[in-house]
Amino acid sequence: MLKVDKINVFYGLLQALWNVSFEVQKGEIVSFLGSNGAGKTTAIKTVQGMLRASSGEILFMDTFIDRLDSHNIVGLGLSLVAEERLLFPSMSVLENLELGAYSQRARAVRRQSLEWVYGLFPVLKKCSRQKAYTLSGGEQQMVAIGRGLMAKPKLLMMDEPSLGLAPLFVGQLFKAIEMIHKQGVSILLAEQNVSISLRISKKAYVFENGRVILKGRAVDLLQNENIEKAYLGL
Ligand code: ATP
Repeated sequence: MLKVDKINVFYGLLQALWNVSFEVQKGEIVSFLGSNGAGKTTAIKTVQGMLRASSGEILFMDTFIDRLDSHNIVGLGLSLVAEERLLFPSMSVLENLELGAYSQRARAVRRQSLEWVYGLFPVLKKCSRQKAYTLSGGEQQMVAIGRGLMAKPKLLMMDEPSLGLAPLFVGQLFKAIEMIHKQGVSILLAEQNVSISLRISKKAYVFENGRVILKGRAVDLLQNENIEKAYLGL
């Protein structure tokens, strides 16, 4: 579904990614692990067309997307729930959600998508007329994910979705991610919450200093002593 081959990405003169390659097959949940500044966000933003790779290739569902604009990439079925959430605070929940359905493909099924999002996150239906800034952090994250789903993605990328959320909500969030996956959406997840993301993932890539230093099946990485020491605090 997504094949990223040896991308190199710079911020000015600073090289942030070095020959990074990864793949997501249809139906998979894939995790990116790594500490702050390891390059996960850069990799995800490059796939979404928000940053340009200076070399390498990005193939999504048989289309090379590395020179396409973000909105065209969304139109092909690839969406990002950004770390910053990027909601419009003084717009209502409903308005924020509807903004996700701007491609022609998504607009055509806007009503069904909205029911889908309300089914996943019933609280959003109750507060659909409320302005986004009045919601809790967890509810705002639901809106951000809901807006990503309104674009009818085939692959949904999520950057640190559990960041800043209360522990109780983190469990609910991961349940929702599993439900989204069961409904046919492939998922690429960058998370600091390593053990819970490995538990729901098929495979994972470990980033360090802008490189992929380890990749493998999530079940194997969960038992890898180095991963335990570095990320699970064991
Ligand atoms: P985090 O979890 O903190 O987001 P990350 O693994 O996603 O970490 P990136 O945000 O991709 O890491 O950062 C990779 C490298 O690129 C880091 O050295 C970071 O300082 C640098 N970097 C990120 N954004 C910028 C930017 N806008 N300008 C310059 N350097 C940047």
